[in-house]
Amino acid sequence: MTDTRRLPWPRTEHWDWQRHAACREYGDTVFFHPEHERGGARLRRENAAKAICGHCPVQRACLHHALQTHEPYGVWGGLGESERRSLLAHTA
Ligand code: SF4
Repeated sequence: MTDTRRLPWPRTEHWDWQRHAACREYGDTVFFHPEHERGGARLRRENAAKAICGHCPVQRACLHHALQTHEPYGVWGGLGESERRSLLAHTA
């Protein structure tokens, strides 16, 4: 679960980047895995999400947000769940 204590203040400048997110045109099902998704299906979905992130103008802000809040689920800023966990483990 997201650590809500780490969320930024509800001020426009902290959240404005989301207005420019490339994923706004796609459903959550591209970025968040359904229950029991495994193997090749998961890899294909994650790669599709990461390809969208690769063209996103706010990728950096998105990844920063996900790392700051320890967002546990989904693809954020071009990184999957295990990739963010690994990054956080190496910077703790
Ligand atoms: S980097 Fe990816 S997840 Fe983040 S806002 Fe852009 S498209 Fe969405």
